Amino acid sequence: MKPTVLVTGASRGIGLATARLFAAGRHPTVINYNRSRDPALEAVREINAAGGMAMAVKADVSQPEEVAAMFETVREQLGGVDILVNNAAIARQSLFTDIDYSEWRTTFAVNVDGMFLCCQEVLPHMLHEHRGCIINISSMWGQVGASCEVLYSATKAAVIGLTKALAQEVGPSGIRVNCVAPGVIDTEMNSHLSADDLRELAESTPLMRLGTPDEVARAITFLASDDASFITGQVLCPNGGYVI
Ligand code: NAP
Repeated sequence: MKPTVLVTGASRGIGLATARLFAAGRHPTVINYNRSRDPALEAVREINAAGGMAMAVKADVSQPEEVAAMFETVREQLGGVDILVNNAAIARQSLFTDIDYSEWRTTFAVNVDGMFLCCQEVLPHMLHEHRGCIINISSMWGQVGASCEVLYSATKAAVIGLTKALAQEVGPSGIRVNCVAPGVIDTEMNSHLSADDLRELAESTPLMRLGTPDEVARAITFLASDDASFITGQVLCPNGGYVI
């Protein structure tokens, strides 16, 4: 049996593309969703109809009880999670002076606390097995910061710090922890941007286009594979050269 994978925020976009790619590689795959139940269930139906093994589990990753219940369900049905992809996140553009404190807390709760909660759930099994792989999704804005995205950039920088420190702590136990920091990817997260904004972003990218969810998914599955067996604590950047 291939290692079991759980992808948070897998009801659409990069998370869904990643879950589909793992499932196509015959990994038992858990699709976590929060609000988008129907697309998550539809993806599970399609994967299972094609001979894969997927299940969808609802949990708001910012809520400790929901995260605990999700992993309990997965343990009962599939056993422990061997590959965790911490992908769920929210983002909103605004001037720093317009961010109120509750929005600051909520965004950190989803983008960073959710990662903390999911890592704590999977690590006892990984430590017991002396193997496992965690991939955290950051952003190029976590590396260089973006105007009008101070909050999002701060959460994504925290993801990089968490990745590097955790990789050092659990490396001796055979567990690899890496980070993927995408550039501008064509998903719903950018649907608020105008056609002109998107064109400008594409033109600022050396490869002259936006990335696709599948291109990020391939970076993620690479890091989870044996081809990346000596890679840990690193930040892989599918960004078309936007940040070099
Ligand atoms: P997206 O299309 O907006 O999808 C976000 C996913 O996160 C959805 O499946 C959503 O599920 C889930 N989610 C949001 N809040 C959640 C919560 N509290 N609990 C559980 N799931 C939650 O975003 P995306 O573009 O695919 O982004 C995926 C990852 O890549 C994020 O970490 C993002 O920061 C990062 N990233 C994206 C880009 C980009 O340009 N798109 C660039 C760099 C980095 P529900 O609808 O079910 O709530």
